[in-house]
Amino acid sequence: MLELRAIERRYRSELVLAGVDLDVRRGEIVALIGPSGAGKSTLLRIIAGLDRADRGSIRLGGRDISALPPSARRVAMTFDDGALYEHLTVIENLAVGLEQFGFRGAAVGQAATEAAALVGASELLGHRPAMLSAGQRRRVALARAIARRPDVLLLDEPLTHLDLRSRLDLREDLRRVHEATGAATLLVTHDHADALAIADRLAYLDAGRMLHVGTAESFGRPAHVAVARGCSWHPMNVLPDPEGNGWLALPASAVTIARLETPSHAETTGTERLPSVGEVLFLSGDHGPLRRTEGDENGVVVTVGLQVARSSQESAPTVRLRCLLPRGLVLAVGDAVRVRLSLDQLQSFDRQGLAVAQAISGHQPPHRS
Ligand code: ADP
Repeated sequence: MLELRAIERRYRSELVLAGVDLDVRRGEIVALIGPSGAGKSTLLRIIAGLDRADRGSIRLGGRDISALPPSARRVAMTFDDGALYEHLTVIENLAVGLEQFGFRGAAVGQAATEAAALVGASELLGHRPAMLSAGQRRRVALARAIARRPDVLLLDEPLTHLDLRSRLDLREDLRRVHEATGAATLLVTHDHADALAIADRLAYLDAGRMLHVGTAESFGRPAHVAVARGCSWHPMNVLPDPEGNGWLALPASAVTIARLETPSHAETTGTERLPSVGEVLFLSGDHGPLRRTEGDENGVVVTVGLQVARSSQESAPTVRLRCLLPRGLVLAVGDAVRVRLSLDQLQSFDRQGLAVAQAISGHQPPHRS
């Protein structure tokens, strides 16, 4: 349905979008996520026709719409403040929007009331925006966007600054509205929980580059090290590659932690070797107890001495290792713990940050020419 190819945008000399590709199918919701300043809103504005790309193409249903004005695109966009006319009632706001897109006569009232009903805003039609709660404003903004039955719906932070109840309600409304209209929907959000609750697929934009597009599950194998760092629902440990060639990433779920009953057990925990990535040693006992420093809903972060040097003589830098706290395990600051790494889940990234598709297990024979 919506096909973006090699979209590029510069503001003065700064490259804000660096050749973005993305497809959104009919009947699909894709969440556009990524750090602040990544270019998410810029991409939305370009699709809506409110900004222009310097290069690249936007196709809708096979037709290039890059040169069309916003009103000819069959693309609707909502903004996080709702962008409603304050002096008009809700029904008038909906009507004005429809008239801008060529609706006339009875069709205006019919499309407006249908859209209001779909988002659960029928009882608000006579209200002015000042009388609406934040959640109701978003609902009206959504009604205005879908009233003209666009092929593409662009939602810029539709759930930001809402209280929890309104947010959960609006998540459901968004899905329901989407099922009813089938519009290819692109949703910008900084909140990963919202993205996971609403979207079919997620697209991760960072510094103008689309680094990973796929289902929530697929982010367990991120295509770029920046995604490994930024994805909150598959928390990862990202460490420098001991060979200096890039990075290694290990999911938090691949790190298991157990409390040692007495510190003397630490001396018998020994070391574990990471195969095929050089002399990477995980040291616990000799280098002192592992200390819990902080924790959050994504697990516990323990600070451990993880040696990422080739020989054991070199001093081991201290890295922060994130792991999921097993149910029932109570840790106090200063407790000695044993950490085990499931190395079969180790992932490699090259110097450019791109995932290296390679089997990490086993010893690589030296290359002979
Ligand atoms: P996001 O939505 O991911 O937070 P934006 O698309 O708002 O990111 O912004 C991406 C980058 O483009 C930022 O560095 C921002 O400063 C810059 N930018 C956005 N709009 C303009 C503009 N109109 N003029 C100059 N720079 C802009």
